[in-house]
Amino acid sequence: MPASAPPEQLLRRAFEIKTSNHDEFLSILAQLHQLEDSLPVDEQWTLRYLDAWQAVFAGNESQALIGLRLIAEQAPSPTLRLRAMATMVNIFGFAHRYEEGFIQLNRLTDLLPQVSDLSARYAAMGEAAQFLIISHHYEQAAEYADQMMQNIPQGKNACHAVYYKLHALFLSGTTVPSQGEFQRGIDLCNAGNDSLAANTVRSDLASLHLQKGQTNDAIRLLEEHYAEVAGYKYPPLMQYFNMLLAQGYYALDDMQRARKLALATVENRIENAYSLPLSRAYELLYRIDNRLGHTAEALTYHEKYMETDRGYLSDVTAGALAYETIKQQVQAKRNQVDTLNRQNQILQLQRQLDRKAMETSRLYIALLLTVLASIAFWLLRIKRSQLRFKRLATRDSLTGIHSRQHFVDEAELLLRAGARSSRPACLVLLDLDHFKDVNDTHGHVTGDMVLKRAVAACLQHLERHDIFGRLGGEEFAILMPDCSAMQAVERSERIRQAIAATPLWGETRHVVISSSFGVACSDRSGYELRQLMIDADNALYRAKRDGRNRVIYEEEERGAPVSSIPADDAPMASGAERLAHAPTDPAFCRATRR
Ligand code: GH3
Ligand code: MG
Ligand code: MG
Repeated sequence: MPASAPPEQLLRRAFEIKTSNHDEFLSILAQLHQLEDSLPVDEQWTLRYLDAWQAVFAGNESQALIGLRLIAEQAPSPTLRLRAMATMVNIFGFAHRYEEGFIQLNRLTDLLPQVSDLSARYAAMGEAAQFLIISHHYEQAAEYADQMMQNIPQGKNACHAVYYKLHALFLSGTTVPSQGEFQRGIDLCNAGNDSLAANTVRSDLASLHLQKGQTNDAIRLLEEHYAEVAGYKYPPLMQYFNMLLAQGYYALDDMQRARKLALATVENRIENAYSLPLSRAYELLYRIDNRLGHTAEALTYHEKYMETDRGYLSDVTAGALAYETIKQQVQAKRNQVDTLNRQNQILQLQRQLDRKAMETSRLYIALLLTVLASIAFWLLRIKRSQLRFKRLATRDSLTGIHSRQHFVDEAELLLRAGARSSRPACLVLLDLDHFKDVNDTHGHVTGDMVLKRAVAACLQHLERHDIFGRLGGEEFAILMPDCSAMQAVERSERIRQAIAATPLWGETRHVVISSSFGVACSDRSGYELRQLMIDADNALYRAKRDGRNRVIYEEEERGAPVSSIPADDAPMASGAERLAHAPTDPAFCRATRR
């Protein structure tokens, strides 16, 4: 671009090529700085944004943040403010600084309606989706990805939107996309000439192949594109490819290759940085060295595995905590600020009115209408954000079903209605069996996946008016209205079988899971949720004590239970494992369950 080009054109060009031709970008930036003093105000702000962007690119985040904060607060153009917020969200996500990330995300969401520039909107929603994925809020990330589909800028296709959607759904584990959907995502990104995004989608598809035991398909897919990915010099994707290939070769019993690839995954790791591939690679190294008889190495890798697995857990907790903290702070502050704003507006308008002594009645009416309209506007906005937060707070962040408190609220409402009309209702408590062992053996990532799969299996057997919630850990409750005890036992039995029939491919072998059920119904326990909980819990306790993997409904106080004896259909832990867990003392059962 000639040095004489007008600044406006230089700025536009700089935006276009900032990643694709970084050298030219730097030279344009230098040109613009020479003209800085003569630039109009808006263009000076844009130049500041490009400086901050360059600082991020060069890895100087703290310097970038100083500029970005200023732009986000003071730049006259809402589009530029949005871009600055989106860049901050990106920085905070990659640094796992979740609280600050949620603060910016919230501002960004509020600003979106004022920005009509599609490419800024699309980019901002993309950063939002990415941040929510990093902070483990997959369902919300998928919602932003859906929004992106409505905001595709000219000259782009939906590749990134589809990628975030697929990745979020894949990680959420509740509705895993099909292979066809992944393939369509890959085709779309190829059509948009975005091979990096296409390969990122491929890595999820390969992971899905591995989960389904289609090891050769996974290896073929990864190896076909391995050289291409190596060419990007983009460590996170390379790490993921290496780890998946290592898992594939491990499944094929090729220990040498698996070890080499797992070592490549952990090579150049950043100290104290957690990543899922890292944790899985350490686990593999531990298993491989264990099998090869390298005891000392195996032990070291096991320690590293535990350390990274703990890193994962505390990262999930940090993400959830930050979300909760910010949600409350934002809500409290917003109410305060909104009230003040409205008071100020009214006072100012009153003063104006006094001064002008109501020059004309038309002015008076117009002002009044403005006040009313702005109050209505603010109320609508408050209501909308309250609704957004309320909806999110009522969900369990891991599984997306009702949280404990929300389940209790809804169940009590339904039971009161049942009591008035004397229609029967049943409460079913279910608890996964030996779930602690799943965590200990396969890690918390797999544990989480098991929880999501179990929830998905339950959802398939629920009816329209059932209420389903996670009470905590691996314990769930279903309130079945209009349901007799016999029906509740039958339906629980179907759910029990469905959970047992959805095994999950763990790191190295299938994780088989079973669950125990306790049923209590209004005909014997009444319509008080508290009593139903106590009775269902006693039945559940009995199911655990009688050997787990069964449904128990106690018809009489301490009477003979109606039980669906565990069908030996359900695949269970091996005989030896079952014996090892067989509780001999009832107290043991209670202690392990609580
Ligand atoms: P029982 O058959 O008697 O129910 O045995 P159990 O191992 O399932 O029960 P226990 O209560 O001893 O262990 C429950 C485990 O669930 C312990 C805890 O680490 C784990 N857990 C709780 N919440 C989560 C979670 O959100 N994710 C994962 N992965 N594990 C969790
Ligand atoms: Mg359990
Ligand atoms: Mg439990």
